[in-house]
Amino acid sequence: MLKVNDLNVYYGGIHAIKGISLEVEEGQIVTLIGANGAGKTTILRTISGLNKAKSGTIAFKNTEIQSMAAQNIMAMGISQVPEGRRIFSAMTVLENLQLGAYLRKDKAGIKKDMERVFDKFPRLLERIKQQAGTLSGGEQQMLAMGRALMARPKLLLLDEPSMGLAPLLVQAIFSTIKELNQEGTTILLVEQNAHMALSIAHQAYVLETGRIVLSGDAKELACSPEISEAYLGGS
Ligand code: ATP
Repeated sequence: MLKVNDLNVYYGGIHAIKGISLEVEEGQIVTLIGANGAGKTTILRTISGLNKAKSGTIAFKNTEIQSMAAQNIMAMGISQVPEGRRIFSAMTVLENLQLGAYLRKDKAGIKKDMERVFDKFPRLLERIKQQAGTLSGGEQQMLAMGRALMARPKLLLLDEPSMGLAPLLVQAIFSTIKELNQEGTTILLVEQNAHMALSIAHQAYVLETGRIVLSGDAKELACSPEISEAYLGGS
């Protein structure tokens, strides 16, 4: 569904992404793990058109998208949940969700997807008229995911959904990610919490300073000594 080939991204003179290739098959959860600053966010932002690549290609459903504008990439079915949520704090929960569907015209479909979001995150329904900025961290993460789902994406890009959340909430968010995948959404998940990410993913890529150093079946990688030492606290 998504094929990234020999991608290079720079910030001025800084070569942040160094010839990365990766693939996300339809129906899968693929995770990209790695330490702070490895380049995970940059890859997601380049896929969704927020950063531009210097060279390399990104194909989504066999169409090259690396030169397309972010809005057109979103219209093709790719939605990103950015790191740190970035919800619109002065707007209500409902308004944030409605914004997620701004490119859509199918009223009935939008209504159905809104119900689905409330079904997944009942807390959002309870707080529908509340200003988003007053929600807790976990609720803001739910809202950010809900907003992305309102675009009815084929591919959902999640940037560190567990960041700053209490362990119980992390569990809840990861169960929801798994559920969304089982209902048909393909997911590219960026995480520092390698343990959780590998537990729900099918495939994984390990990133170090802009390069992929390991990749393969997530369950196998979770058992590999290199991963265990570097990312799972040696356990
Ligand atoms: P984090 O989890 O901290 O977001 P990451 O793996 O997502 O880390 P990136 O944010 O993609 O990493 O950063 C990759 C590299 O690019 C880092 O060395 C970072 O300092 C650099 N970088 C990121 N954004 C910019 C920017 N706007 N300008 C200059 N350098 C940047």
